[in-house]
Amino acid sequence: MDKKEKAKKVLDILEKEFPDAKIALKFSNPLELLVATILSAQCTDERVNMTTKSLFKKYRTARAYASADRAGFEKDIRSINFYRNKTRSIQNCSKKLIEDFGGKLPETVEELTTLPGVGRKTANIVLASAFGKDALAVDTHVKRVSKRLGLAAPDDPDEIERELCSIIPKKRWAKTTLLFILHGRKTCKAKNPLCDACPLRDFSVYYKTVRKGKK
Ligand code: SF4
Repeated sequence: MDKKEKAKKVLDILEKEFPDAKIALKFSNPLELLVATILSAQCTDERVNMTTKSLFKKYRTARAYASADRAGFEKDIRSINFYRNKTRSIQNCSKKLIEDFGGKLPETVEELTTLPGVGRKTANIVLASAFGKDALAVDTHVKRVSKRLGLAAPDDPDEIERELCSIIPKKRWAKTTLLFILHGRKTCKAKNPLCDACPLRDFSVYYKTVRKGKK
């Protein structure tokens, strides 16, 4: 079975397993999703959603983030890991957004990644979930699941993105991210993957080589 065929079967199975797959971060516009995604690095989505509930009422525009009092903003997001760095990222990103794009989020990965602190992963999440574009974001779960299934070999997330995009039809890119994240959280966990309960066992290189070898 070639990788395109394998990817199709894997996605068909995961779509049945997670029929309502959608992004866990709460937002009502692209700027909010950008801020939530920056806050979510090494932090749970639940914690981010708890914080953004009031944050998004207080700060509604890039200008509001850019001109916020730094210490006050740090206090607003203090329950989030690395809140000082994230304050800096959000404020620098908002300033650049105002300078180069009039405060409105651009809709291409090339433009979004010119914003400080915004890499391809964050840009693709925003493009897929806030703008409805065909974009595939590679986070830690997507990386792990892709590698264990043998769909992508490299370690570099940008290369994984390229490999996955070359074997998965464009219209399924955005869903791939959501499904692989859900599968990675529920079953294909980093430390102890639940292989015996996994619906993708027949396609898993990891299962065939590592797990089965131990039995
Ligand atoms: S069989 Fe195990 S390693 Fe392979 S995808 Fe499933 S949970 Fe992950």
